[in-house]
Amino acid sequence: MAICPVCNGLREVLLICSNCGQTMVESGKLMDYYDDYSPYMEIDLMKLEDGYPDNHSDHKCAHLYRCPSCQKDDVIFIKE
Ligand SMILES: [Zn+2]
Ligand SMILES: [Zn+2]
Repeated sequence: MAICPVCNGLREVLLICSNCGQTMVESGKLMDYYDDYSPYMEIDLMKLEDGYPDNHSDHKCAHLYRCPSCQKDDVIFIKE
């Protein structure tokens, strides 16, 4: 079974905000937000799903990153 290196603390991903150049902070697995914050995140996730057709792939783990400076959200897919 594949293991996501970020979920398991094996690897840290450094992501730079494309908006302001700040280092983005990992905000957790995207799937966690589906459960806990679905009303709040619904619109953003709809947009993300449109832009990332691989979202439901079994082989990638979606992580949400947020810029602490401008609050821009970004989702990256960790290859498991
Ligand atoms: Zn993960
Ligand atoms: Zn930013």
